Amino acid sequence: MSAENDHARLIRLFVPQEQPAAAQLCELSERQAHYLRNVMRCAVGDRLRVFDGTSGEWLAEIKEVSKKKALISFVEQIREQVNSPDIYVLASPVKKEAFDFMIEKASELGAKAFQPIACARTVIQRVNEDRLQALAVESAEQCERLDVMRILPLKTLKDFLNSMPLDKKLIFCIERTQAPMILPRLQEAETKLPLAVLIGPEGGFTPEEAEMVAAMPQAIPVSLGPRILRAETALAAALTCVQATIGDWPVK
Ligand code: SAM
Repeated sequence: MSAENDHARLIRLFVPQEQPAAAQLCELSERQAHYLRNVMRCAVGDRLRVFDGTSGEWLAEIKEVSKKKALISFVEQIREQVNSPDIYVLASPVKKEAFDFMIEKASELGAKAFQPIACARTVIQRVNEDRLQALAVESAEQCERLDVMRILPLKTLKDFLNSMPLDKKLIFCIERTQAPMILPRLQEAETKLPLAVLIGPEGGFTPEEAEMVAAMPQAIPVSLGPRILRAETALAAALTCVQATIGDWPVK
């Protein structure tokens, strides 16, 4: 069994710490202290895994754990840093539970960043970035990614398109059209990272929005099949196709 597997059962926490080094001490947040002591019943000497999003994964040891305070010491690096592929998700805010689900699935499926997008038919026009970022951290802890998916501030579709770099492809998921199926489009040589996957709101794009997106030179309109999917299903389906073709799911 590899050393990586030996550590698989250890608790894993996101601990922002610039350039960790062996024997360095680090105080955890109150929430993490509470979690280690009261939820997981950890004690001094117990080991855990920590990551800061840029320095790989480290083995650490608990040096002190009390009601409000937990102190850990870095032991050794056990994984080198690997970043998620340059895949952005652009999606409209939907009801809280469904949007939380979208954040979690985008993170698990390895998106680098999540851009909430306000479209004409977007019903929810505000997002709590801090709460969503905390969800992305929790998801990174759980799914063992080494970086944390960034939550970007809400933008209108128009503002996003106006600021979109020319070298970023835009996988434009559009229902009820003759758009080609997503897989063959992703398999074409010119479809490369970096890219963004655009999913519309519950009510879909307006004809004007669809026209505006399709007119972008970066746009690759695609179909996700003959059924109309909920936004959260469309997101998971599209990201799966991207990861399995040009992302970080090796095929050989
Ligand atoms: N209200 C719209 C309708 O009835 O036509 C459906 C919108 S759907 C719930 C939300 C988004 O998921 C769409 O804007 C699109 O981006 C994506 N989507 C859903 N089904 C799709 C499909 N079969 N092909 C491509 N995209 C799809």
